[in-house]
Amino acid sequence: MVDTSHAPGAERLANAGTRKAYEALIEHAREASLLGGTASLLGWDQETGMPRLAAAHRGKQRAQLARLVHEMRTDARVDGWLATCEADPACTADPTAVAAVNVRELRRDYDRSRKLPTSLVEALARASSAGLEAWKAARACSEFPQFVPALEQILALNRDKAACLGWPADGEPWDALADAYEPGITAREVDRVFGELAPRLVSLVGRIAATGRQPATVDLAAPIEVQRRFVAKVIGHFGFDFDRGRLDISTHPFCSGSHPSDVRLTTRFREDDASDALGSTLHECGHGLYEQGLLEEHNGTPMGSAISLGIHESQSRMWENQVGRSRAFWTWCAPVAGEMLGKGAKAIDPEAAYRAANRVEPSFIRVEADEATYNLHILLRFGLERALIKGDLAAKDLPAAWNERFQRSLGLAVPDDARGCLQDIHWAMSLFGYFPTYTLGNLYAAQLYDQARTELPGLEDDFAHGQFARLRRWLAEQVHAHGKRYGAGELCRRITGRPVSAGPLLGYLEGKLVPLYGLG
Ligand code: ZN
Repeated sequence: MVDTSHAPGAERLANAGTRKAYEALIEHAREASLLGGTASLLGWDQETGMPRLAAAHRGKQRAQLARLVHEMRTDARVDGWLATCEADPACTADPTAVAAVNVRELRRDYDRSRKLPTSLVEALARASSAGLEAWKAARACSEFPQFVPALEQILALNRDKAACLGWPADGEPWDALADAYEPGITAREVDRVFGELAPRLVSLVGRIAATGRQPATVDLAAPIEVQRRFVAKVIGHFGFDFDRGRLDISTHPFCSGSHPSDVRLTTRFREDDASDALGSTLHECGHGLYEQGLLEEHNGTPMGSAISLGIHESQSRMWENQVGRSRAFWTWCAPVAGEMLGKGAKAIDPEAAYRAANRVEPSFIRVEADEATYNLHILLRFGLERALIKGDLAAKDLPAAWNERFQRSLGLAVPDDARGCLQDIHWAMSLFGYFPTYTLGNLYAAQLYDQARTELPGLEDDFAHGQFARLRRWLAEQVHAHGKRYGAGELCRRITGRPVSAGPLLGYLEGKLVPLYGLG
């Protein structure tokens, strides 16, 4: 049984009826979260250690848990407990108090899951699974037309889904879909920030490409076991707690956590270049530090959960980019890498390693893109998925629209659809509104990092000595400890004093890349 002796926030509820309803609500949320955490552990195992032929059986186990979690989340008793709590001003008057946050967010989840008819949820699941197969086949032979019927079906169902969920009066259907990943975000808001970002970023990337120069590569080849010890040492310095987490290998790196004491990171290795594993591991470590930084007393409730995908991504990008691609980081890391990778403590020049880590070059594949061009891949996808959902762009016309925009923003002619509009799994899996969270993460990372540097003088001197605790603690206090107390935009305003904007990310990229490429 779940320990119900303490539901955080209940102590402020004087009315016995409210208190009872709130405690029942929290106990129920925690039980659903326990099941969800078990499901995510099975997912982790599937990617890291499960025997190959166990896939079918594992599928049944995961489907059963998903069904049970869904039943719990849509249990009609939740509505009653919520209504009791909502009717008591003691519970809702201060919107940032623990009970008010939990009630507000559990209401949001409940209403969202109840608004979708079971028949639509099932139709979406079938269409996504068929979409995935059609996408794989179409991508294998780079034949987009093979994917069109499945994509049309997925789009139609997503428009139905948006209609069931609803969107703000001045908004559009895309908003309803994106709300699942970045609560409260609207296409108009994304458009405002991305519109600010696009011209200067396209210009910066174009000026870099026009130099025709690239920093020299640095030899970071080493056996996988050796690389593994190296990346583990680096994230240990970042503060990732290996008594409360693990690092394993998977094809696509990810982080999953069911409790602050059990956070699973994965990474991947290339024998010829440790920088691949280093980048993936620092990125996933940033996600992991967020999960380890959530407060245990709130586990299983909104107050103990991450805010949004964008804020989650801001944590991973900050450790990967603002920290892991900084000159100060490489001042410390180059001798460590030289020694641990068996090359000699003085073999890797810190300045050369810094420059090599900041190579910027337009390329076709999003997941292989550098930190500057990456955002152009996302801006393109946002514009297209918005038009697809609105009905302004027909599925069959996607390749032409993609290729035309790609040429305009990245300056490259897309050679085939496998390296163009068929490269990502997201739309085939019915994930619309998801892509912008990656660039929102970059924007939040840059803005939060600027603030951290202001509040923590000498921060980068710490990095140069292998010390990262001040930044980790600052993020834990400013971001992790709040759970879902604030929305993403509000949290950003509270910490930095202004709404999210493109300025900090542009300033960060230009500040680094203009001198590095001699664009001055
Ligand atoms: Zn990430």
